[in-house]
Amino acid sequence: MIFNQKVSIVTGASQGIGEAIAREIGQEGATIVLVDILKEKLEEVAGRFEAQGIKALPVMADVTDLRQVEGVVELVMKDFGRIDHLINNAGVTRDSLLLRMKEEDWDLVLAVNLKGAFNFCRSVVKHMVAARAGRIVSISSVVGLMGNFGQANYAASKAGLIGFSKSLAKEVAARGITVNCIAPGYIATAMTEKLSEEVKKAFLENIPMKRFGLPEEIAKAVKFLCSDEAAYITGQVISVNGGMYM
Ligand code: NAP
Repeated sequence: MIFNQKVSIVTGASQGIGEAIAREIGQEGATIVLVDILKEKLEEVAGRFEAQGIKALPVMADVTDLRQVEGVVELVMKDFGRIDHLINNAGVTRDSLLLRMKEEDWDLVLAVNLKGAFNFCRSVVKHMVAARAGRIVSISSVVGLMGNFGQANYAASKAGLIGFSKSLAKEVAARGITVNCIAPGYIATAMTEKLSEEVKKAFLENIPMKRFGLPEEIAKAVKFLCSDEAAYITGQVISVNGGMYM
């Protein structure tokens, strides 16, 4: 098991891609701090993980709130004394054409998807700097690279995450910390399930591999970036999209 003794924080961990990432890293021996906003869903996932022999600590927090995030990081440092991996995965969509986009839909998407990553990185990086080691992986999106009709807020947040990660990568590279993004294409989760059949069909036509991705396929790329094999990779965006955008 490659992550024995390691401690990993995964945000948005109670379903979809976040749950798959937490399981993938947890199966390698890491203790996983599962962060999400709904207590019941979190406890369910933690229970399932424990039954599978994965060490998990569910912590309820809203990633948009810096004080709550600092509280999570303090708790983890008090309980375990280390944070090896931070996976910024929590994300939301509030799609609409820009002409009709409500201010609150812009603000919420930027707050969860971009400020959430800032809040966690700000709180975690000082501990990684002190340890002279750490891995940060943020889940961006193909939409942050190519833009998307009806998703100006989401695309801005996901493109922002890339610029943010590259900047942080430069600041902490000399301290043994890597910072990278994964840009998933269309992955079959609750987030994409709510799209209309027509939109799903249009997506499928544009995917050379002619299938949607699985959460586990994103989780494996995250595991690689957290592993010793990826020690010399930083400031990168790894696309996992079935060829949808090259
Ligand atoms: P998902 O099923 O909707 O899961 C996202 C999780 O984040 C949910 O458990 C959600 O809780 C949680 N969350 C939302 N707001 C939060 C907050 N303020 N604080 C803490 N947790 C919060 O989405 P997914 O499809 O697994 O996506 C995971 C990540 O991958 C997202 O960043 C998404 O943008 C990105 N991504 C997904 C796809 C795709 O095709 N699915 C493609 C590219 C990128 P609630 O459900 O209670 O809101």
